[in-house]
Amino acid sequence: MAVPKKKTSVQRKGLRRAGQHHKMYRKHTSKCGNCGAMNLPHCACPSCGTYKGREVFTIKERNTEDAEE
Ligand SMILES: [Zn+2]
Repeated sequence: MAVPKKKTSVQRKGLRRAGQHHKMYRKHTSKCGNCGAMNLPHCACPSCGTYKGREVFTIKERNTEDAEE
């Protein structure tokens, strides 16, 4: 069985775990081909409702007249 030659220091262990943390929580964003807004890759664009140039869902427009009353 392969055995590590040196004991992993607390600092080295902390650096390794910090790297995993950044890998987990980094945000991948890509530009929407239709409207140019930033969105998550492999996901439908939340601002225009398209995915790969095809409309997946329609964005409901807020009725501002009702909110004012
Ligand atoms: Zn879009």
